[in-house]
Amino acid sequence: MTLLERDPTAPSAWQDEMQVTNRYTVGVAGERFFRAIKDDGKIYGTRCSNCERTYVPASMFCERCLDQLDEWVDVGTTGEIVTFTYLYANYDGSHRTEPETIAFIRLGDGGIIHRLASPDSQEIEIGMKAQAVFKPKTDREGSILDIQHFELVAG
Ligand SMILES: [Zn+2]
Repeated sequence: MTLLERDPTAPSAWQDEMQVTNRYTVGVAGERFFRAIKDDGKIYGTRCSNCERTYVPASMFCERCLDQLDEWVDVGTTGEIVTFTYLYANYDGSHRTEPETIAFIRLGDGGIIHRLASPDSQEIEIGMKAQAVFKPKTDREGSILDIQHFELVAG
């Protein structure tokens, strides 16, 4: 049998529940990245001086030259909207009456995908500045959702 031929008796789908347990760790860089968001309301990246790139979210290694990165950079909490979309469906598939806006916000040479609030339904355009709005410190858990959303910066 060649690789392109299928065994007609082989199962093609699994229609039942599978018990899966796992534990996801964010790694050394992720730990520091999320701790800074939780404890200080800051967003950090790591800088590769060889490639002159600042990775956001922070990374332990440069994806271009594979150098270990140990220069941590506070990239601020304001970035640029690179792209955005409107969600008309909830996560369970039900219809939303008001769309939710999701944007990719450039910070450093990377960025964060997150909710974008537009006060007074201000029109959103690519290239606008958006600033992270953090949850109150007592409500933060060390997750990207410690950033409540980004909001447009006037001007
Ligand atoms: Zn590099």
